[in-house]
Amino acid sequence: MCGIVGYLGDLRATDVILSGLKKLEYRGYDSCGICFHDQTSGNFLTYKDKGRVNHLISDFDYGFTNHFGIGHTRWATHGAPNHINSHPHASASGRFVIVHNGVIENYKELIARYLPAISFVSETDTEVIANLIEYFAVSYPVDLAIRKTLAILEGSYALLIIDTRNPKVLYAGKNKSPLLCGYRNDGICLASDLMALVGVSSDYYVIEDKTFVKVEVADSGYQFSMYDPIGIEYTPMRHEVNLNDDEINKAGFPHYMLKEICEQPSVIRKIMTNYIVDGKFFVDQDILDMFANRKRLYILAAGTSMHAGFVGKALFENITKIPTEVFIASEFAYNKPLLEEDAVFILISQSGETADLRACLVDVKKMGYDTLTITNVKTSTLAREATKFLEIFAGPEIAVASTKAYVGQIAILSILAYVLADKPKIDLIKELSKLAVAMEAIIDKREYIHDLVKNHLVKRNCFYIGRGIDYYTCLEAALKLKEISYIQTEGFAAGELKHGTIALIEQDVPVIAIITQNHIDKNTRSNIQEVRARGADVLIISTNHTMKAEDDIVLMDVHYLLSPALAVIPTQLIAYYKALDLGRDIDKPRNLAKSVTVE
Ligand code: GLU
Repeated sequence: MCGIVGYLGDLRATDVILSGLKKLEYRGYDSCGICFHDQTSGNFLTYKDKGRVNHLISDFDYGFTNHFGIGHTRWATHGAPNHINSHPHASASGRFVIVHNGVIENYKELIARYLPAISFVSETDTEVIANLIEYFAVSYPVDLAIRKTLAILEGSYALLIIDTRNPKVLYAGKNKSPLLCGYRNDGICLASDLMALVGVSSDYYVIEDKTFVKVEVADSGYQFSMYDPIGIEYTPMRHEVNLNDDEINKAGFPHYMLKEICEQPSVIRKIMTNYIVDGKFFVDQDILDMFANRKRLYILAAGTSMHAGFVGKALFENITKIPTEVFIASEFAYNKPLLEEDAVFILISQSGETADLRACLVDVKKMGYDTLTITNVKTSTLAREATKFLEIFAGPEIAVASTKAYVGQIAILSILAYVLADKPKIDLIKELSKLAVAMEAIIDKREYIHDLVKNHLVKRNCFYIGRGIDYYTCLEAALKLKEISYIQTEGFAAGELKHGTIALIEQDVPVIAIITQNHIDKNTRSNIQEVRARGADVLIISTNHTMKAEDDIVLMDVHYLLSPALAVIPTQLIAYYKALDLGRDIDKPRNLAKSVTVE
């Protein structure tokens, strides 16, 4: 799940690459490295180490004149995150230097067949690729040597390749892992994500799977060419780089996560602007046709997106009356349930690159099902490969812990349910507008939540409890707290606790209850009594119409089907402030990466 950047152009390559890598750190941040052509000495220099890009920046002298290089920020899959396993990796002679995002599944077989005599320096699958290119380059020109290598790799890769004998050409290959080609007349930048292209490219091209790319300096300027697996050149689709620096910096907030929490009301409004035409919600007729008269919907997702999927189930079943099931993508991919034939699959992914989902997509397409991807990245693999896609319009989400993409996913699911319903019994424009206002009200009270957190959540474990749609919020709330504070937290159906897990409740164990629905209010409050009787330190999140004097956080009333998008906000703030007080690395929690591009 690494981030890679390569540059050939008039700007100083190390500046472009290091600033690009900083923006891509959300993809992985256990080690990083860079290789560039120093024009003064004529040599290629490599710097790499365990740790963050800032560490790398402080590591070397900026005096080099250089216009060509590649860089990498890593989320280790093969070998520990240490200096030796950091990218770039070189072939045995040092001739080929590469960075790689992905996993080569057959690297052991490739070593046995082609490289038995090589003694590898690192434990990575990546080093095998560099050596295979060198192996083929003995008998073939470099282009062909790389294409022969790409042809025998199984798995995922976005690769940037330097032939140190030729400082005027940057090579690349791509399969399954994302790679974009950014263009401006003063240089070409290849990167894993659009954010790295901001400020250096005016246009970008999405590179297709199994493509071989060559970037070079010609008399007419910088140019790139892309070839399919049989060597036929193709012209990819051009897009404009339409992000600006404001969208990808912290805008005065101490962390991206807090900035993104605070952006949630505007995300709801932006989604409404993008999906309302002439005062009505509008979704492509093709999408409506694809869903028409279907007997069942299947939602596939992972992590936070799966929690949005559960809310989607409530929305579809209540508004459209179509039975809906939600599956964990990594389970569905290899353990299929019995499926209804007349169904559509909805895939939810913030990045649109989630490898577990891609494995599912390939399968369900083969089975003949129509698919719809809901994603924040319209050029992503899942957006391109599904039958149709809907964009979330949440803007770049940079903190690893997802917040605004989650509420955006719920909003999109509500719009889809609404447009699919015959006579929806909800005024969705009014309800989403109310939601945005209610979100603002609780975000404005964030300092109060910070104070609350200071005196609670003192143990190493915690529970969120709720029923019905609140239970789904509990699942997401628990994930948020554990991923950034490292406090072990479980989201529990309130009534289920007494069937075993209540054994874990003892003095001061924090239990946070969510009660946004009248019909389950009494039951959840009984469960609160049960844990209080055993010493739990209880916090209650309720709404104006469910509130009691004992409650700690009271939210404005919104439509019950949209309440998860509101009730999640205090839980995001609880997670944020607890992690802050514990001194955690909030935007980049340990062992994680944002875009999970490995299965
Ligand atoms: N497999 C490579 C490594 O372990 C790249 C990892 C990745 O892209 O996640 O270094």
